Amino acid sequence: QAKSDHRHSMQLFSAEMNRRAQERASLERALQQALSERSLTLHYQPQVLSSSPGTLHGVEALARWNHPQWGMVPPSQFIPVAEDAGLIHELTLWLLDEACRQLAAWRAAGHDVPCVAVNLSGRSFHRPEFSQEIGDALQRHGLRTSDVLLEITESVMMDARPVTLKNIEALHHQGFKLSLDDFGTGYSSLSYLHRLPISELKLDMAFVQDLTTSATARALTVSVLSIAHSLGMVVVAEGVETTGQQQWLQAHGCPVMQGYLFGKPLPPDEIEAWLCAQAPSPYR
Ligand code: C2E
Ligand code: MG
Ligand code: MG
Ligand code: MG
Repeated sequence: QAKSDHRHSMQLFSAEMNRRAQERASLERALQQALSERSLTLHYQPQVLSSSPGTLHGVEALARWNHPQWGMVPPSQFIPVAEDAGLIHELTLWLLDEACRQLAAWRAAGHDVPCVAVNLSGRSFHRPEFSQEIGDALQRHGLRTSDVLLEITESVMMDARPVTLKNIEALHHQGFKLSLDDFGTGYSSLSYLHRLPISELKLDMAFVQDLTTSATARALTVSVLSIAHSLGMVVVAEGVETTGQQQWLQAHGCPVMQGYLFGKPLPPDEIEAWLCAQAPSPYR
């Protein structure tokens, strides 16, 4: 009896494995197609100054995939697929080009967007030509290195491969600024912070969302703000949703905030509307 139960659960298990593998394969094929049709889009989320929440520090470009049958597929699902399937380089370079094109278009239309932040995958840093390709994208759109902020994760910072370090150094020499995304969630050592040219820390939303309930989250945030300040880095708090969080962060000297409280990731035309709504009106 026990033996047949076991065999039965093994069959269920392998059926489940099989189903997942097929799901993954069809996701991969669909992503490949979306990429070749250039049907992914970018949304942009406002990053605002704490001292003046109607003023932009910049916007973060976030990938969106609206599949004709499945609807919106979240990046947390398709980015890992793109990485495993070797599609991430093409995807990153295309989205970077698109973000540059959009920033140049906003400026040409008279919208004051100080810079655009782009998320980079650690995989891309294994390509010797990566830093050059990023520089090329900017040139195509007549932008300067200060116009684009490159978001990397702690895994890139901890990656000891020579090719990764060479790319980081080359980007730094070109004048790019690097931002460390999801700070506090990885395993990075604080001592790496001053070894690499990081100019911005993005405090992960896990901390921000615990601020009002957890003394530990508050203590950690206070020390991150203090370390960043002494190293001359900007801190961006991610996932700010409540005025309680906003007030705490502002009172403790966090210079930049990003979150639903100020604006969700929006398509380009809604960013323009957001900017117009923030602009001080002479009639107000
Ligand atoms: P991330 O770079 O840390 O981006 C912030 C995520 O938090 C975004 O999710 C954003 O929509 C969400 N968010 C912002 N404010 C709030 C808030 O107040 N509350 C809550 N609950 N969430 C908020 P999204 O767009 O689903 O992206 C998830 C992750 O996928 C990103 O995390 C990033 O790691 C990755 N990703 C997105 N676009 C790209 C891309 O173009 N390239 C790469 N390599 N990764 C990307
Ligand atoms: Mg990011
Ligand atoms: Mg983040
Ligand atoms: Mg994140």
